[in-house]
Amino acid sequence: MDLKLKDRVIIVTGGSAGIGRATVKTLLEEGAKVAFCARNTERLETALAEFQSQYGDAVWALPCDVLDAEAVAEFREAVLGWFGAVDGLVNNAGQARISTFADTEDEDWMAELQLKYFSVIRPTRAFLPELEKSPVGSMLVVNSLLSRQPEPRLVATSSARAGVQNLLRSMSREFAPKGIRVNSILIGTVESEQWRRRYKAQASEGISLDAWLAEQAKLRNIPLGRFGSPEEAAAAIAFLVSPKAGFITGAALEVDGGVARYV
Ligand code: NDP
Repeated sequence: MDLKLKDRVIIVTGGSAGIGRATVKTLLEEGAKVAFCARNTERLETALAEFQSQYGDAVWALPCDVLDAEAVAEFREAVLGWFGAVDGLVNNAGQARISTFADTEDEDWMAELQLKYFSVIRPTRAFLPELEKSPVGSMLVVNSLLSRQPEPRLVATSSARAGVQNLLRSMSREFAPKGIRVNSILIGTVESEQWRRRYKAQASEGISLDAWLAEQAKLRNIPLGRFGSPEEAAAAIAFLVSPKAGFITGAALEVDGGVARYV
């Protein structure tokens, strides 16, 4: 299926690792021009060099913390300098906070709410004028199944994620007359840098990453019996942000191996 992404300009926040990196790759394979950002300069430059060796000037990146309004404004200026337009925005940057209500302090709540809300609000505000000018403007948020199926050991993340889904519903209604679609994917468990960090912190000695992930999949009763791959999440993202999904807005697509239990 041709996603009609050829020469469309798509922004991916958090594009240097995990799901974001796989999304950059998928979009480039579809013929899009891609600009991405992340905070760690070294990892960003390594990813950019790898992509540019294959796709040349179709891909650019700049270090940018999406919570920093000034950095986001600089990223926007850079993107307009590289490509002159923006057709799609993938708000992907972020990570989960593991804590129960008992061990989540006020400052942890504030940090988590800030991360989950402003990682969407700041880039969206910055790129909204360009999305409005595009004939196929669209925004996609990489959210979590926790937004609808909370887990007490991820209390702040679950709660903040639910708020973001609510925000996206409002945005989808507000932006529809501007021709901008707003959708999300709800990730269950997808193998990524985030999970590699947890493996290093939690796995018992001698167990391989693959064996640990298989153990985690079993513990979580994932019906398909495994974690998703970043490429599987990226495929859903690329479709929803593409013109091919032109009549879909306000949707939330579970990418979770069957974990969702609501109807
Ligand atoms: P990774 O940790 O593998 O990658 C996260 C990416 O985001 C990195 O490029 C990171 O780079 C970047 N990033 C993080 N914070 C910021 C920031 N403030 N500003 C700019 N870039 C940032 O994570 P995943 O691929 O697993 O996660 C991607 C998204 O999917 C996240 O929002 C996550 O919460 C969500 N998700 C993932 C799940 C999973 O199982 N993997 C489950 C549910 C949701 P750097 O650190 O250099 O900034």
